[in-house]
Amino acid sequence: MFKEFLNARYLAWHILIALALAIIVAALIRWRISNAETLTTITSWIGIFGTLFINALKMVVVPLVFAAIAVGVAGMASQKSFGRIGSKTIALYLVTGFIAIFTGLILVNVIQPGNMQIEHAQALVDSIEGTDAQSNMAARIEGRSWWDLVQIIVRAVPPNIFDALTNNGGLLAIIFVAVVFGFFTTKLTGAVRETIDNLWQGMYDVTIAVTLWIIRFAPIGVFALVTVIIVGTGFSAFKPLFWFVLTVLLALALHFFVWLPLMQVFLARVNPFKYYGKVAKAQLTAFSTASSSATLPVTIKSAQDAGVSKRTSSFVLPLGATVNMDGTALYECVVVIFIAQIYSVVSGVEFGFIEQLLVVLLALVTSIGVAGVPAASLVAITLILGVLELPAEWLAIILAVDRILDMCRTSTNVTSDLTIAAIVARSEGEELPEVKAA
Ligand code: ASP
Repeated sequence: MFKEFLNARYLAWHILIALALAIIVAALIRWRISNAETLTTITSWIGIFGTLFINALKMVVVPLVFAAIAVGVAGMASQKSFGRIGSKTIALYLVTGFIAIFTGLILVNVIQPGNMQIEHAQALVDSIEGTDAQSNMAARIEGRSWWDLVQIIVRAVPPNIFDALTNNGGLLAIIFVAVVFGFFTTKLTGAVRETIDNLWQGMYDVTIAVTLWIIRFAPIGVFALVTVIIVGTGFSAFKPLFWFVLTVLLALALHFFVWLPLMQVFLARVNPFKYYGKVAKAQLTAFSTASSSATLPVTIKSAQDAGVSKRTSSFVLPLGATVNMDGTALYECVVVIFIAQIYSVVSGVEFGFIEQLLVVLLALVTSIGVAGVPAASLVAITLILGVLELPAEWLAIILAVDRILDMCRTSTNVTSDLTIAAIVARSEGEELPEVKAA
């Protein structure tokens, strides 16, 4: 019985248990150990396992993204479905992105987490004055401008393929190269065509095989990552930001537990309970790593476990991990308006309707551009704050709670990709027998 439970089929449960253990162990460590040096030693040792796990996942990301997209696009191009599937996917990315941002927008306006008494607002602003967090933030902001957004698009066409392939943070460029190569593979004929097809396919199969091996270690990696984060963050950081954290979590929860499942029911005609059961390991890995890119190998594997074809998952998911970030877009919107609310309490300057609309648009555009790595939205938020002429260094106010919220939004990002994969798959006539609605 116990031996049966150790089977890879129960991996999501193993990860869940690891997560619960991490919370217990972290609470024990914080309770029993107060010496800072001992704490650092313990977290450094535990942290090694987390880093090993993330490094291993990142190791397969570039070959996997390249091979998956090349295989997917070549398959679609030969069946002349590339344009159709591509436009469907992108349209769905935009729709879910808008739904997420509006969810955040409505909640942040209803709850008004930043609309506090002036002494509290001033205390929050003063609390970051002269701190490391604030100076780090100031250094990050230095030299950033609107222009950075344009550069994201320019960099999507890399001047050197081999250079591009060495940059885990530049997946958009890798995707571009893979789409082009995948597409033009179908222009070849005869033996050469077969060789190139086999090359992409072989690369894909071997990276998936390596991925399978790596994700067996997910429980250990998750335990290590989450323990270190909780020991490092503690719970006291949450107190002054209670309403802000609540707003973000409620909005993410609405998207995760209501909107996306509704889309699964009505657009994909799959049973959300069954589907979430199949993809839980990706959601939990995203939660622990706070990186959609590092989670991508697990995301692809779990979509295929749910029955999504190789062709669909290979195209929709790598693209989604890079450009479709609902949780991130929602978070950007809530943070910017939260800071604007504090700003208006402290300075009396109101934040109008037009500015809110601008936040919606900028949140969508920047969420497409940010990389799927931890804390990536902070860069985008500083850009938006800059455009709106709000004090970007005030972002330091939320830094202490950012990581935990990052874990939640990354899980939402990945779940949205998986939802769209299911919708596209079903619309292309795939059956998904194990998860389809009765
Ligand atoms: N960590 C997020 C992701 O990888 C991006 C972010 O919102 O910071 O999807």
